[in-house]
Amino acid sequence: MTSRLFGTNGIRGVVGEDMTVDLALRVGKSVGSVLATGPVAIGRDPRTSGPMLRDAVVAGLLATGHDVQDAGVVPTPALQYLVHTGTFSGGVVITASHNPAEFNGIKVVDRLGMELSRPEEERIEARFFAEDYTLAGWNAVGHVHPNASGTGSYLDGIASRVDAGAIRDAGLRIVVDCGNGASCGTSPALASRLGCDVVSLNGEPDGRFPGRPPEPVQANLEALLRTVKESHADLGVAHDGDADRAIFVDDRGTFVFGDRSLALVAKDIVSKNGGGVVVTPVSSSRCLEDVVRAARGTVRYTKVGAPIVARTMHEIGAVFGGEENGGMIFPEHQLCRDGAMTMAKVLEIVARADQPLSQLLAGLPAYSLHKTSVRYKAQERDVILARMKTMAAGLRVDDIDGIKIHYAEGWVLVRPSGTESIFRIFAEARTEEGAKALAARGEALLRNSMED
Ligand code: MG
Repeated sequence: MTSRLFGTNGIRGVVGEDMTVDLALRVGKSVGSVLATGPVAIGRDPRTSGPMLRDAVVAGLLATGHDVQDAGVVPTPALQYLVHTGTFSGGVVITASHNPAEFNGIKVVDRLGMELSRPEEERIEARFFAEDYTLAGWNAVGHVHPNASGTGSYLDGIASRVDAGAIRDAGLRIVVDCGNGASCGTSPALASRLGCDVVSLNGEPDGRFPGRPPEPVQANLEALLRTVKESHADLGVAHDGDADRAIFVDDRGTFVFGDRSLALVAKDIVSKNGGGVVVTPVSSSRCLEDVVRAARGTVRYTKVGAPIVARTMHEIGAVFGGEENGGMIFPEHQLCRDGAMTMAKVLEIVARADQPLSQLLAGLPAYSLHKTSVRYKAQERDVILARMKTMAAGLRVDDIDGIKIHYAEGWVLVRPSGTESIFRIFAEARTEEGAKALAARGEALLRNSMED
């Protein structure tokens, strides 16, 4: 196996262990050596290690002759929007997204603000591992300037892409839980600007994440669920650390799984558009396909990973795309996941409907997902998957990413984890029992494929 620097979502690690200041400097020099001539925008989430890693990456970029504009603490999509709408040769975000406080990471985006394709990452990795940098002479090193315009035009862009009048007229109350992350300066301000009565939770940026862990999963959002109920809010929203994702709580204080909010937004966009293609990973709920088809659209499945979803959307001109973890991509805004844009769109949907969010969601088809996992020996992965595909002969099988088998009552997906030697098994059916039964069928097939 060749050495890899980039994971599914950039370069990540524990600070002082595999994410060090030395690594950041080398990444900065490698990125600077590969990007076309021109300024680079940089931003970060509020992690305590952010300034240290940023300064190292900036030093590498300056050394390779790039000017740098520093946008400070901003959501990842705000930095991407700055690059997307400006003239930069690329952008860098120092963030570990939803990972705990001891992690940090480096995400690189191209001149359009999109996350890099795998071949682009490989060009950076080649420079990194060979320590082959294109360094500038003393009179050509770059300069660093602050860039304070990032979030202003970003919020203008979002407000212009929703029906701000309808949201304002609805007079909604929303609880915004930024989790002390990068969105503290943007999402509550955006909701206020859209005329909402905003209750802010964990609204002070703090890289130790004292309020809650940065991942917006149900177990981390008890305070949000409670506050929505107590304040009689129309909805609640929570972002991950870098705010490219948004997860919702309905007016009854019930946690909304990301596949439900994804289907709700897809339904709205495809209906209004009178059709269109929606892009989503192969692991997404059939609920999405049901609503998109009913609105005369189609679903295109991809491998798991937001950058792949975004690139596919770009290639085929999709109207919408996203993942079940609350990451949604609105192509007319920009081609990356955007938590604040997602919040604004859901506010618009609720504002225009005569129904509360809980009722809008109740109108969607319901499925149950069951997850389990099985450990395997690393070198046997491809053989096992090939055997499994053979064993499933006669059934509808997708092998875009792992093996997905469709049954009349639902589907089961077996895919290798990107980071450990385990197969993750996802099964979905109309009922919980059905999903468990399908997961058991998938697991049995997998275990049979593992025996020599
Ligand atoms: Mg994120």
